Amino acid sequence: MTSNHQRIGSHFQLNERLVFEEGSAGRRGFDLPELDVPRKDVASVVDPGLLRDGIAGMPELSEVDVIRHFTRLSTWNYHIDLGLYPLGSCTMKYNPKINERVARLDGFALAHPYMPAELIQGALAVQKTLESCLAEISGTDAVSLQPAAGAHGELTGILMIRAYHQSKGNPRKKILVPDSAHGTNPASVTISGYVVENVPSDRRGMVDLEHLKKVVDQDVAAIMITNPNTLGVFEHDIAEIAEVMHSRGALVYMDGANLNAMMGITRPGDFGIDVLHINLHKTFTTPHGGGGPGAGPVAVKKILEPFLPYPTIGLKGDGSLFFDHDRPQSIGKMKAYNGQFGMHVRALCYILANGPKGLKEVSEVAVLNANYIRAKLKDAYAIPYDSPSLHEIVFSDRNQARNDVHGGDIAKRLIDYGFHPPTVSFPLIVPGALMVEPTETESKQEIDAFIEAMLAIAKEAEENPEIVKSAPHSTRIGRIDEASAARKPVLRWKPE
Ligand SMILES: *Cc1c(COP(=O)(O)O)cnc(C)c1O
Repeated sequence: MTSNHQRIGSHFQLNERLVFEEGSAGRRGFDLPELDVPRKDVASVVDPGLLRDGIAGMPELSEVDVIRHFTRLSTWNYHIDLGLYPLGSCTMKYNPKINERVARLDGFALAHPYMPAELIQGALAVQKTLESCLAEISGTDAVSLQPAAGAHGELTGILMIRAYHQSKGNPRKKILVPDSAHGTNPASVTISGYVVENVPSDRRGMVDLEHLKKVVDQDVAAIMITNPNTLGVFEHDIAEIAEVMHSRGALVYMDGANLNAMMGITRPGDFGIDVLHINLHKTFTTPHGGGGPGAGPVAVKKILEPFLPYPTIGLKGDGSLFFDHDRPQSIGKMKAYNGQFGMHVRALCYILANGPKGLKEVSEVAVLNANYIRAKLKDAYAIPYDSPSLHEIVFSDRNQARNDVHGGDIAKRLIDYGFHPPTVSFPLIVPGALMVEPTETESKQEIDAFIEAMLAIAKEAEENPEIVKSAPHSTRIGRIDEASAARKPVLRWKPE
């Protein structure tokens, strides 16, 4: 291990009690000046039946106590600013700090979503520019920035497909979903009122084209396909798949969460995709979850443009921008205001900072990094689908399972080596899956340290499987009983 990773794991061993166990009676976090108006009895102002003497078990703490408690807790969190976060499919990239600086500029941060369009022309220009950048990158004609996450973009896109078929007289019944799909895909299909029909993968881990040709009938509204798929494999026959669908009046939805593998190299619109969503919090470095809301814009070809959520951002003859509500075929509004504006600012900042050449390089390096890991680990860890990887690589625990060491054990042992675990047990078509996505933001040094840790664990699985099976050993809390944690969670602190 490099010295860097020896450091991680040792410097936040500080343990922390519950906030309720801290403090002492009468300790306060504030100091109020002497009252300079006549004191009034609370009971004369508020119905005494609603008053209570105190709150049982309420901790009494100073400002310093509170700040230290939560600051220490915050160091328990492994995060992207601390080290590699190789969660496959999640694309946990470093979030450039310049994005944050720009998003905090007063004109952006203080703009109120109810301000009239005339007063927020700059904000609308950011959104309009981002729309055109995303359209150009994806090879599509129009974009809606409203959806608040990838899955929300899926719902938006499938509802648009429904509206399209409806406008032709028949919404159709089914949507085809490959067995390698992200779990959100069948969920979005079902919520949109369609029935999911599973499409099996072939030995390459790709959609079986011959099978597809047999199942696309007049009831099929679309195929929902992830590309590159969740095995990190580019769907080789994607153009032909699109042709089959279109020849039977059906559409092609692409789950574009993995767009980071193809920017500047190929464009979904060019290989026959009608609609896709794009995860700004993956490909375009805006923070995931805790760091801010996500954003999952949908990009569409001309035939779907009339159905975009309203309002769209329109351009007047005089060059000014406005909210266009006059969209008679729109599926309606998908999100309050016009989406997660702060994320749009960050994503545009990232796109403009990189430019076309830079974005292409992003994809090239993401793919290179994944393949470097693949090459270095392929002798130690099994690779179930042997097609070339793009931005992520799926191993299985087949070699280690011979010693009863499984994917989850390997993941937990990685914590001892100072790394966040990769995605495990997904995709479902790979038993004992370990899905690794380094992203382009990691240096060779960091990736080498990860590879070293993975190789050390493979060796341990041979020579000393118990140490892997009982990991993690370096954390405050070791292996927990996951079944009990899920079935009998303790969610409430009770005063004694
Ligand atoms: C992350 C991801 C999604 C879902 O995106 P959210 O923003 O988490 O809703 C969908 N499909 C794929 C392939 C993904 O990687």
